[in-house]
Formats: sequence, C-alpha cells, structure tokens
Amino acid sequence: SAKKAGRGQYRFFDQSLNLRDVEQFHLEQSFSEALHNREFVLHFQPQVALDSLQVCGFEALVRWQHPRFGLVYPDRFVPLAESTGFIVPLGLEVVRLACEQIVAWREQGLPPQVVAVNASPVQLAQPDFSERVLAILAQHGVGPDRFDLEITETSILDSTALAHLEALRAAGMSLSLDDFGTGYSGLAHLEAVPVSKLKIDRSLVAKICNRHDDSPIVSSTIILAKRMNLSVVAEGVETREQVVHLTVAGCDIAQGYHFSRPMPAAEVPAFLAQFGRAETAT
Ligand code: C2E
Ligand code: MG
Ligand code: MG
Ligand code: MG
Repeated sequence: SAKKAGRGQYRFFDQSLNLRDVEQFHLEQSFSEALHNREFVLHFQPQVALDSLQVCGFEALVRWQHPRFGLVYPDRFVPLAESTGFIVPLGLEVVRLACEQIVAWREQGLPPQVVAVNASPVQLAQPDFSERVLAILAQHGVGPDRFDLEITETSILDSTALAHLEALRAAGMSLSLDDFGTGYSGLAHLEAVPVSKLKIDRSLVAKICNRHDDSPIVSSTIILAKRMNLSVVAEGVETREQVVHLTVAGCDIAQGYHFSRPMPAAEVPAFLAQFGRAETAT
C-alpha cells in the first residue's frame, strides 16, 4: 500500500501531483538547505589590464560545493535557480560572499581588489534589488566602487532593472554588460543604458586567429564601444595570439585561461605575487 511504501513514495500514488512538481519541490528544498549550510562558494578569475599587464579585478563565479556531487558548476544550477526564484536569495548570498572576501583580502594586506559579480535578470526584476545589494555592502564596510555588477542584455530592456542600474551607478558601482555578442546585441540601444563596460563573449573571442575569419566583428565592436566611452573586456582569452590581437585592436581588459582559470580565494594572494613577477620578467 501507499502507506507501507513510506514517505518519498507518495508521488506514485498521488495522480494530481506530477513528477515535475515533486522534483522541483525537492530541488527547492535542497537549495535552501545548501544556502543554510553555506555550500555555495565563489571562485575568482583575474581580469588583466592590457596596457599595464596588471590585474585590475576578479570576476566572482559561484560554485555549489555539494556534499554528494562535489563541485557543481553554475551552468548546472543557475537556470533552475532562475526558474524557481531561488536565484534571488542565492544572488544576495553571492554579494555577501564577495563582500566577505574583499574584507578578508584587505585584512591579509592585499591591495584593494575590485570584484565583479553576476546578476540575473530575475534578480533585477525584484523591486528591492539595488537597496538590498547596497545594504549588504554597507554592512561589510565595502564601498560600491569595489564592486562591478555584470548584467545581461535582457535586463536593459526592463524598466525596473534600469531603475536599479541607475541607483547602483549613482552609488558609485560600475556596471558591465556581459556576454555581448550572444543576444541580438545592437550597440545602438546601449546608449540609454548606464553601463561602463562591455564584455565581449568568449564565442566571439574564440574566432580571433582563425585565419578564415580574423574577427572583424571583435575589432569593430571595440571601435564602436570606445566611441561610446565604454571600456572593453574580452572574456575567454586562451592564447597569446588573442592577447596580441586584442591589444592592437584597443581592447582594455582580458580575462581567460591564458592568464588563469577561476581559482579559490585562498589561491589569490599567491597568484597576485607570482603574476606581477612573471609578467614583468618577460
Ligand atoms: P560568465 O559570466 O560569462 O562567466 C564566464 C564563464 O566562462 C565562467 O564559467 C568561466 O569559468 C568561463 N571561462 C573563463 N575563461 C575562460 C576561457 O578562457 N575559456 C573557456 N572556455 N571558458 C572560460 P562558469 O564559472 O562555469 O560560469 C558560467 C556562467 O554562470 C557565467 O558566465 C554566468 O553567466 C553564470 N554565473 C556564474 N556565477 C554566477 C552568479 O553568481 N550569479 C549568476 N546569476 N550567474 C552566475
Ligand atoms: Mg560574467
Ligand atoms: Mg561573461
Ligand atoms: Mg559568457
């Protein structure tokens, strides 16, 4: 009988509840448990200024340190977190973790670091998003100028999101448009948006140094972005050839495996010490 099968088996007997709902319910439960148990961690990937070859910031990338599945990457859980709404508390946790790390590095004597954090359109649709983010920063004594918020194109078409961006920008935070070149990106409608950086998606960067298409799209994007007073960040930079091409094309900042994979926070101080030496030595 259903009773004998025990808890967790009820889905087979309750016709009104579909399997999807049940799985979603369990996932939401494990999400909030994970949040409570502090299973989400940030890894940090350096961003390198191409004129000086100095590290100018780190992008914080969330991972789920799952007790059974090990380190789970965001592509596996961010879309689900977005569809369940869990991205809202998760996003605030990410801001909190980034603040804690900025403070910890400061206490370890590192020069002040700028950290870029990703924000989903679902977060930016919340009426209190900017208020809550600024409150977390204030609680930790972290200035908004230490923060960079990475948003995607979807967010710049929404009026609630735009109001948050204006508020954060006014507070001194820098804003970056992530994954540029993957949507139906036109630079034209960017004029109304308060972003100061454009991150060229790695799918475009990957085309550089492919001899049949030496990426006129990347070079012309850089030219247009600079005309609009935007800084340009190239993501997914994997080779020295790409670094050279991007530098010549006027790109400001590069991020990718060529410089470093995303790393746990504990590795950052050694990375900074070693990177400065390595880049000036060559
Ligand atoms: P993204 O913001 O475009 O982040 C860049 C992704 O490219 C990261 O993957 C990074 O590890 C990867 N990457 C960096 N350099 C290279 C490279 O040279 N080659 C290649 N092949 N890949 C490179 P990751 O960490 O798996 O993150 C995937 C996406 O998940 C991110 O894309 C971002 O959209 C999302 N995400 C990560 N953390 C958060 C978060 O805290 N909140 C939200 N809402 N989304 C997040
Ligand atoms: Mg990003
Ligand atoms: Mg990106
Ligand atoms: Mg991307």
